[in-house]
Amino acid sequence: MSSSLHECCLKRSEAIRNEFPMLSVVENGHPMVYFNNAATAMTPKSVINAMTEYYEEYGVNIARGVDAIGYRATHLFEATRVKVADFLGAERSDSVVFTRGTTAALNLVCSSFGNLVVEAGDEIIVSGGEHHANYIPWQQLAKNKGAQLVLAELDEDGKVTPEALQKAMTPKTKLVALFHISNVMGAVHDVKALAKVAHDGGAYFVCDGAQGIVHDQINVVETDVDFYAFSGHKLFGPTGVGVLYGKYDLLKRMPPIEFGGEMISLVDVYDTTFADPPHRFEAGTMPIAEVIGLGKAIDYVNRYGYCAMQRRVEYLTSIAVEKLQAQPNVTIYNPHNYASGIICFNIEGIHPHDAAGIYDREGISLRAGHHCSQPMMRELKQFATLRASLAFYNTEEEVERFVEATEMAGDFLDILF
Ligand code: PLP
Repeated sequence: MSSSLHECCLKRSEAIRNEFPMLSVVENGHPMVYFNNAATAMTPKSVINAMTEYYEEYGVNIARGVDAIGYRATHLFEATRVKVADFLGAERSDSVVFTRGTTAALNLVCSSFGNLVVEAGDEIIVSGGEHHANYIPWQQLAKNKGAQLVLAELDEDGKVTPEALQKAMTPKTKLVALFHISNVMGAVHDVKALAKVAHDGGAYFVCDGAQGIVHDQINVVETDVDFYAFSGHKLFGPTGVGVLYGKYDLLKRMPPIEFGGEMISLVDVYDTTFADPPHRFEAGTMPIAEVIGLGKAIDYVNRYGYCAMQRRVEYLTSIAVEKLQAQPNVTIYNPHNYASGIICFNIEGIHPHDAAGIYDREGISLRAGHHCSQPMMRELKQFATLRASLAFYNTEEEVERFVEATEMAGDFLDILF
């Protein structure tokens, strides 16, 4: 790279980092290296400002009053629904239900739709690579209904191929629930091909997009998913808000699972009729500031562009993987999955929690544990792993510090023994 191009890249990287106030936090005396983006990503100022503006200028409830201020809040809330629908490539905005996050969205599909369609003797397919949020609800539904939970086989990269899904399907398969990108292995599913296998076999397809939405732009119509769930906080937006996309005719068949304000059509003495989707599923006061903040996060992603973000993530992840691979005591469980920014690894002889303590001492934040995916730990035959997860705002220098800290953690063993 020429020196002027290099300088230009540095300036751009600095400008981007300045948009994220948390990136200048100091941890244990070091500028923080934030490599825990798959857990929660940092939030840009535009999102924070939009939420502050709501609280300072028009922080009232929505859909309840006829006053101008209430109208402004309602309008911005509903405009975000349209923005989310466009972002997902959905045909209609009333296919978008706001929830507390991916977990709440998947529980809603399971408790309402799953409960409606799954019967005793049916089969529900998941994989061992799911986050607990896309595993336990289906496991419990199967248990309660006398249905069978079936695990589709994972390949060595941690994904279910369409062929593997086909193998797991039987005439009894009622529903398939799989991740878009896995949070442990960072494996990327061919969502369109998997949805087709499910549909050809007469089953519904639910997709957990918590990680996928960040790295692989989804089009819900092209992929033909029946349901797609994601969280705001992984997409550079606020916590406490998420989305369930559902095909409208399926949402229309689903009963609400929460009852209260603003989800009804008519409350009679002994019965109630409910509002149409999506409001039927949005009982009570919604996270208004967070929904508006999510809209700003989507603006941010659209402004930066998926391609540019992904180029950075894949480049940084590839150099981190290459450098870690040069350390003989490091085992990387997913050496080929650069697209997610996730590196799942262990350092020989050191428990991941102890290693995470060493990283923390160096100001590096990453995750250690089972990553809310004990089935995947079972697949890997590990109790826990380390997980570094990179975002487009991370830098080569941060990768360098991470690699050095890994070496240091390895040397720690030599000091002990
Ligand atoms: N699914 C996947 C793949 C995830 O990575 C996560 C969070 O880490 C979830 C579901 C749950 O998301 P949330 O905690 O935002 O509901």
